[in-house]
Formats: sequence, structure tokens, C-alpha cells
Amino acid sequence: MNSKIPEDLIERAYQGKSTKEDALQLLEIPPLELFRFADELRELAVGDIVTYVVNRNINFASRCVGTCGFCAFKDKNGYVLSLEEIMAKVREAKQAKATEVCIQGGLLPEVGLDFYLGIVEAIKAEFPEMHIHSFSPMEVYHAARISGITVKEALFRLRKSGLDTMPGTAAEILSDRVREIICPLKLKTGEWVDVVRKAHAAGIPTTATMMYGHIETPEERIEHMLIIREIQKETGGITEFVPLPFMPYNNPVGEKLIKEGRYATPGLEDLKTYAISRILLNGYVNNIQASWVKLGKKLAQFALYCGANDLGGTLMEESISKSAGASNGERISVEELEWMIHGAGRIPKERTTLYRGVREMASGNSRKVLGFGISE
Ligand code: SF4
Repeated sequence: MNSKIPEDLIERAYQGKSTKEDALQLLEIPPLELFRFADELRELAVGDIVTYVVNRNINFASRCVGTCGFCAFKDKNGYVLSLEEIMAKVREAKQAKATEVCIQGGLLPEVGLDFYLGIVEAIKAEFPEMHIHSFSPMEVYHAARISGITVKEALFRLRKSGLDTMPGTAAEILSDRVREIICPLKLKTGEWVDVVRKAHAAGIPTTATMMYGHIETPEERIEHMLIIREIQKETGGITEFVPLPFMPYNNPVGEKLIKEGRYATPGLEDLKTYAISRILLNGYVNNIQASWVKLGKKLAQFALYCGANDLGGTLMEESISKSAGASNGERISVEELEWMIHGAGRIPKERTTLYRGVREMASGNSRKVLGFGISE
């Protein structure tokens, strides 16, 4: 069936043993062959269901002491939301039937762990059932350092206060060569891996992201995916992998690339990256998320034929991508997401953050019962 793909390479992919060399070889085959193979693996892993989550992103601060050269979000005189302002946004999310809030912000020099604990505790006090998917490995590392405690202790306290899961952001490309250039003050590769492993050990699952399409090589992209696979083999705590194309506008790294005549990644390269991630993570990470914010709605829909099986969240707010030039808005309705999924010939299902079905609530919730055969 996959005539252009060598048998031994297919075999290793099925066994979850694809190598870096396999991935490099797959990048050279005709794209449609690659997409068809990734699509086969997607079908075997998760079938034809395409999931999404009704959520709200809340960026609690646009001030940041970080120096990441790809960041269009930080602002020395930016805002920091008060707890009351954060809670007002959580209430709006609840009103809109969100099951998850994803809270992240810049790194604030004066803010230690108590600030983060305060947010989690306030949300859980008012909405115990709201899933709190918040704080990147960098934020947790920073908060622990400011508070003079270990990352392990910080994670333990966050978990105890009610933090459910963490976004595996701040991963960028897990290569110290790349990080030294684009985000020299950020966690090193080993430190990111360490925070994520410790989060899993503390009972906090995470996602895993990869921001690609800037100064990294294809090898470094592949090595990143293989690091994620290794973590997952050990902990099983990764819920999804989210490849995120770099947005080159309004930030120094992007501006330098544009001067050299390089712009945002071509769509074909995005789709190949999705396909490679499905193949390399086969057997370990079942959920590959296509970000409609970064890819655009139409390319995200096509990514469902290149290995992706999830379209992420309805969001309601996503100022980080918007600052860097994403033009796909800040929210999408459930109806439109389902329209996109149906249009791709797939079956839409609302999920929780942990990829379980959303149950119909006894009153006031008109959304359908969307079971996955997994009970919460
Ligand atoms: S990417 Fe995050 S840590 Fe880096 S400068 Fe921007 S807001 Fe700060």
C-alpha cells in the first residue's frame, strides 16, 4: 500500500520504534505518501473521532522578565490581572460552558508560588469541577526559584491546591543549541524535561508542544519528538502532542528571518511535520493536536488527513499568537468546529482536557452526550 516507504521503516513505525534516520527518510518521500501513512496510523490509534475542548485561555500578565527572541507578547509596561479580574474571566468561561481554563502569563520578578496557588484555590473554591490546565514548566520553575523551594515541592503544592494538568509549553525546540539563540534565559532542555517528569510524578499530566519553523534543523525537530517519546515511555503522563508553527511577525527572531527572505512555514511543511509526529509518536502519544489558531482553520482541517485527530480548544482569548501575527481570531464556536470536522468526513466529539467524553449536565446544558466509552 505504501509503495514508496520501505517495509522495514513501516514495521518500525507500527512497533513505535521509528528512528531519527527513518524520520529523515520519510521527509524525502512524496508528501501524499507520507500523509497517507500517517493517516493510517491515526486511524488505527484513535479511529475517525476528532476531538475538541471547550476552554478559555487567560493570559494573566503581559509583563515578563524573559528575553525570548521569538516573543511578541512581552511588554515592560504591560498588564498584570488581579485575582478578581482573573476570576471574572473564569466566570465568563463557566457561563460559556467551558470545561477547562488555561491560565498562563509572563514571568514576574516579584511573584512567587503563592500567587499561582491563590489563583488555583480561588477557582476551585468557586468552581470545583472546572479543570485547571495552567502554568508552563517555565512558570513553575520560575515560581519555585522566587519562593526558594524546589520544583518538586512547588508541583506538590500546586497539585494539592487543585491544579489538574499543565500545558507543556516553553518547550520551543528541545535543543540547547537552539535555546541558546532564541531563549537563552529559559529552561535548558534537561530542565524542561525534569519539570515535566516531576509534574507527572506529582500526578499532574501535561501536554507537550513544539514551536518549529525558525532556526532549528530538521534533525533537531525530530530529536525533540524523540525526547517526548522517551518521557512518555517512562511516565505515560503526556496527553497530547501539539506542533506549533513559529509566527515570524513582531519579534526579533522572525524579523531577522524575514530579512533573510524566510517567512512563516509553508503549509506543506506544516503538514509534513504533523505526519512525522504521528509516525514517531505512534504507540505512545495517541493525540496529535492541530492548532487552528496557528495553522488557520482550513489547513488545520487538512491536518486531520496527515495524522492529527484533535483541533484543540474554542479558546475565547489567545493574545500571544495574535501579537505574533496569527490572524485566525481568538475564539471559535462549537458549531463551527463541528462543521469543520464534519466537512473533513470525521466525527466530532467534545472532550475533557484528559480526553474523556463530556457528559450532559442535568440542567442548562444543551450540548449532546458525547461518550468515548471512558467514564470519568
Ligand atoms: S515567551 Fe514567555 S518567558 Fe519568553 S519572553 Fe515571552 S512571555 Fe516571557
